[in-house]
Amino acid sequence: MSSIISVYNPATEELIGEVPSHDLAEVDAAVERARKAQSIWARKPIAERRDALWAIADAVIAHSDELALLESTDVGKPLAAARQEVLGVAECFKYYAGIIDKILGDTIPVDGGISMTFREPMGVVAVISPWNFPLPIASWGIAPALACGNAVIVKPAALTPLSTVRLGQIVNELGVVGDALQVLTGSGARVGNALAEHPGVNKVSFTGSTETGRSIIQAASKTMKRVTLELGGKSASVVYNDVDLAKCVQAAPMSVFDNTGQDCCARSRFLVQRGVFDEFVEGFIESTRALKIGNPLDATTNLGPLVSAGHRESVSSFLGEGLNVVTAGEAPEGPGFWMAPRIVIAPDPKSRVATDEIFGPIASVIPFDTEEEAIALANSSIYGLSGSIWTNDVGQALRTARGVESGALSVNSNSSIRMQTPFGGFKQSGIGRGLGQAAIEAYTELKTVFVRTDRDN
Ligand code: NAD
Repeated sequence: MSSIISVYNPATEELIGEVPSHDLAEVDAAVERARKAQSIWARKPIAERRDALWAIADAVIAHSDELALLESTDVGKPLAAARQEVLGVAECFKYYAGIIDKILGDTIPVDGGISMTFREPMGVVAVISPWNFPLPIASWGIAPALACGNAVIVKPAALTPLSTVRLGQIVNELGVVGDALQVLTGSGARVGNALAEHPGVNKVSFTGSTETGRSIIQAASKTMKRVTLELGGKSASVVYNDVDLAKCVQAAPMSVFDNTGQDCCARSRFLVQRGVFDEFVEGFIESTRALKIGNPLDATTNLGPLVSAGHRESVSSFLGEGLNVVTAGEAPEGPGFWMAPRIVIAPDPKSRVATDEIFGPIASVIPFDTEEEAIALANSSIYGLSGSIWTNDVGQALRTARGVESGALSVNSNSSIRMQTPFGGFKQSGIGRGLGQAAIEAYTELKTVFVRTDRDN
């Protein structure tokens, strides 16, 4: 029998919902249902599967107000941002609906005959998602995995499960995929781990911390499961002397403080060439002070609270003695887990604040002199997820982009994630790539079939 998980609004600390904390028998039952549903789903005509994914996209749009409100009150993110994210979820289902009839193989002439390759479904995929972008990240797993003919069991984070549970109900009511999509709620240590270990699950697509990613690899190794891991980050923005400084400082605050800094792609290290260092710091503080922190349901709000009291404590622990810290902006008094953005000026690049993933509204600004030094500093992290390069010299931009060990970089912009392009991390930021066509490789097994055409053998 399941127990109950209580869910709170981090902006008000009020109880906003309850979901079951599923037990191991329920995990077994869900996997069994998924296995049956997968063979039915994978055999449906291509057009039917395409239309099913498109119908899910339409249903997400039809429920976008409801889903955005749930996401905003559950995570504490501004409603306007939540609405954009929900529309992005619909786009994701449309993108992969469009790919279903374009999952191709190769024809390879070989001695004695012809080989063909096929991309086969893996079977049952567990999508284990984090609390910071619950619906988008769940959909980046669900949509391509379904498109490739798999069944999916989603396990949202216990802190913010409401929108994913509702998505599961909406899809269930549509009746287009049956048990090929199920949502299981509960703790990571129990439900998440059980899915990662389960012999009936073929693949785990996990997004979360690097530490949990290590446990997932261990659990998945028992049955040699396929894994895609999207993990933590400590991304750098490299700002060169020839930058368009006005544009750069205008864009800087939301590149790190968006979602109150609870973003794996947050540019939490600004590496700034010494010629523009002081001007950058001044402009960055000023543009951060212009952000509005407060009620996520107010249309003019830029930053909401942190997700929980425990997380605020963990974020605050980075503000130790001896740091030159500027508080930029004012956080509301409680209730709610508020925290104003902090800018740490020129910390030791080896200090904890400059090396660890904070996952909150704290940014470091670190000076450098040469291009080589900037690349070395950017690469001094165990992570390699995202990052930006700000310069008007195209050669310098491309040399830096090639030198930085990171999965997704942008030049004169803070873009990280596009539906059409691969996304994932170098080093301890992850294994594998999602989104774009790369997700098709991530959710299929490659099969080779040789056909003998020789007359004599
Ligand atoms: P987390 O690792 O604590 O939890 C992520 C998910 O894993 C949750 O659903 C959780 O219940 C589950 N889980 C926890 N322990 C588990 C276990 N032993 N076995 C199986 N599942 C388990 O991460 P979080 O705190 O929810 O999210 C924040 C982290 O996620 C940050 O490190 C952030 O950088 C990372 N993140 C990465 C990306 C990316 O795309 N690379 C995107 C968003 C967040």
